[in-house]
Amino acid sequence: MQAHAYAAHDHESPLAPFSFERREPGPDDVAIEILFCGVCHSDLHTAKGEWGGTIYPCVPGHEIIGRVIAVGGEVTTFKTGDLVGVGCIVDSCQRCASCHDGLEQFCENGFTGTYNSPEQAGGGNTLGGYSDRIVVRQGFVLRLPEGLDPAAAAPLLCAGITTYSPLRHWKVAPGQHIGVVGLGGLGHMGLKLAKAMGAEVTLFTTSPGKEADARRLGASDVVISTDKAAMAAVAGRFDLILNTVSAPMNLDPYLRALKRDGTMVMVGAPPEPHKSPAIFEMIMRRRSIAGSLIGGIAETQEMLDFCAAHGVASDIEIIPIAAINDAYERMRKNDVKYRFVIDMESLKDVASLAA
Ligand SMILES: [Zn+2]
Ligand SMILES: [Zn+2]
Repeated sequence: MQAHAYAAHDHESPLAPFSFERREPGPDDVAIEILFCGVCHSDLHTAKGEWGGTIYPCVPGHEIIGRVIAVGGEVTTFKTGDLVGVGCIVDSCQRCASCHDGLEQFCENGFTGTYNSPEQAGGGNTLGGYSDRIVVRQGFVLRLPEGLDPAAAAPLLCAGITTYSPLRHWKVAPGQHIGVVGLGGLGHMGLKLAKAMGAEVTLFTTSPGKEADARRLGASDVVISTDKAAMAAVAGRFDLILNTVSAPMNLDPYLRALKRDGTMVMVGAPPEPHKSPAIFEMIMRRRSIAGSLIGGIAETQEMLDFCAAHGVASDIEIIPIAAINDAYERMRKNDVKYRFVIDMESLKDVASLAA
């Protein structure tokens, strides 16, 4: 089926209108008309070739909310008209131990990303959500629960699950002290989700100007991380610290802020390594540094249901697709609160102009 999109054609040109063919839905496939797509930092890095390995033309987008327009004959869980989501993963091998455990993000044969990723069969390269339609196997399609705003739910598919999964894995519980480092797309979801799980949440930030917003989003405390006295005052306080920053930093002050047996989970991927942490800080109170990557499909559904039950969604700014290049420039300056979401209706204007 014909799809209209915005694509990067090389690492420097602005994204521009692009048309291509999606596969016709097979027996196990769901065809989706895309309503909204969130704009993740990964989109920008991939479109601009900053992580290497970008295959052009590249259609980014892995925070997709849409409506089912057709289903294959073996699809039992979705029907035409359903509101659904598609996140960062559209396929995996389904045979390895990780897939067996519902941890498709750790598929030992490599999961298929929603864009710029080799397909499991057929040898194609996936094209993502900055488009009007997508075709996805039913096992990788999420149900949008009642009560979630479709646009504000889109960023849950990447920013939401990336922060929800470690909070769940490390069993955040009411009354625990949770730190969130950095207030961007990931950090603002971390604050909201940890608060909704009943934790006492503290934001670590270098920007004093973010305090009021952090408190509105669920933080009961804000620590300016460049203030040595303020950092020393919270030593030994936190059960878990969710570090969302994707720039190299000194990890030691955060290690000192952990309790005995506390863990700092890294979900931001810096282009250069962090300075090596002081192992002494880890030995003395059996502290850990860990990493976490998005979440599996079942856990992503659990996260959406949790968000609907607790009234949690992303703070968004809706843009037409023609504004995507400006949005990228603003993301480079951290000038977004806290996620751009493309209204895909705007693609129809572009497509009719191009026709
Ligand atoms: Zn993402
Ligand atoms: Zn697998």
